[in-house]
Amino acid sequence: MADLTIEGIGQIKPSSIKGDVWLTCIECGKTYPPFDFVIYRCQKCGGLLEVRYENLPTFEDFSGSGVWRYKASLPFEMGVSIKEGNTPLYTVPRIESDVGVEALRIKHEGMNPTGSFKDRGMTVGVRVVQELGVKRLACASTGNTSASLAAYGSRAGLEVIVLLPAGKVAMGKVAQASLHGAKILQLDGNFDECLDIVTKLADEGEVYLLNSVNPFRLEGQKTIGFEILEQSLEEVGRYPDRIILPVGNAGNTAALYKGFRELVASGALKVKDVPKITAIQAEGAAPIVEAIKSSASHVQRWPSVETKATAIRIGNPVNAPKALPAIRGTGGTAVTVSDEEILAAQCELAEEGIGVEPASAASVAGLRKLRSEGVVGKEEYVVCLATGILLKDPDAASFAREAPKEIPASVEDVMQAILN
Ligand SMILES: *Cc1c(COP(=O)(O)O)cnc(C)c1O
Ligand SMILES: [Zn+2]
Repeated sequence: MADLTIEGIGQIKPSSIKGDVWLTCIECGKTYPPFDFVIYRCQKCGGLLEVRYENLPTFEDFSGSGVWRYKASLPFEMGVSIKEGNTPLYTVPRIESDVGVEALRIKHEGMNPTGSFKDRGMTVGVRVVQELGVKRLACASTGNTSASLAAYGSRAGLEVIVLLPAGKVAMGKVAQASLHGAKILQLDGNFDECLDIVTKLADEGEVYLLNSVNPFRLEGQKTIGFEILEQSLEEVGRYPDRIILPVGNAGNTAALYKGFRELVASGALKVKDVPKITAIQAEGAAPIVEAIKSSASHVQRWPSVETKATAIRIGNPVNAPKALPAIRGTGGTAVTVSDEEILAAQCELAEEGIGVEPASAASVAGLRKLRSEGVVGKEEYVVCLATGILLKDPDAASFAREAPKEIPASVEDVMQAILN
């Protein structure tokens, strides 16, 4: 297996490559030109690919705002942009003191244009299509990927097809994909089955695949890590000890690690300053946690998965071969949380004025659990990633609390109801 340690990213450009960007297989090291033909996995061994660069960035190379502030670390100068990134790092004083850590911040990726971090990936991923001359884009999705691809694809003037597991996608996300003009196909299968099918269509050349197996998407997503480092230094005065995130296909887990390794390789970040990447999954969909707990080299697919956190209802995490080294290589860990713990954390965040969808709250639920087990220390500065906004999943939000009361339209009745 190729060197996936923090030192392993620094690589000499292969002589067959013309520009300063190429693709490398993380398993066997075979390299490919980035845009000569469509490729998602290594043709030799089937391994995942990673985008590699001749020049790696330092913080001085970054300027501007949003994802494209980090263009020095991306394959393009500019992408198909709807001003994604530059999301807030929120304080949550009550959760911070209740959980008992030195500092806690919430990186609210729900504040992106379509309401999730997927936009960071799409601004880069949809731009790739201009190099390849493809016209039809597709993804399988638990919801947010489809909403994001629909918006970015239609902004680029391209046809978008999305495959969703019928009945398992939050209403707001289907509405977004629909309004942005995607062709929506609801399949009587789970997410993993949707992904199997769209992957076959992509392999046959029918569509360009923008799920997170696409290495360019992860390039955009790694900018979450860059922003967290820069904002932390400015707003908290130091880098986080740990980043806790909800995990589905594990693209973000992989992307954060890649970004940090690039900064280490360029000399911009010390190995000791790389935050511990800590993955949270729902009890009913936890193949990554299982692999970490059992020190397995590979993830076993869970054929059936269930959780109210629909965005992480995934049994076969595509990016596991990148994510397991991310968790292990940074000294992080992985744990499960129950749906009850997730929904309680969603309410806690809401009480601090921060509205997130259930999957996003898994990070805070996980922090609570890890702190109570003593895995997270009281001296730590922790950043929890909130991956998506509340508004997309109104069903989950309204079931989290008491149903609104219906009363007659009179001052007396209203006053009585207020006092009850
Ligand atoms: C996509 C998504 C996730 C899972 O992210 P991965 O990179 O696939 O692990 C988590 N939360 C939300 C809200 C998402 O949309
Ligand atoms: Zn290979």
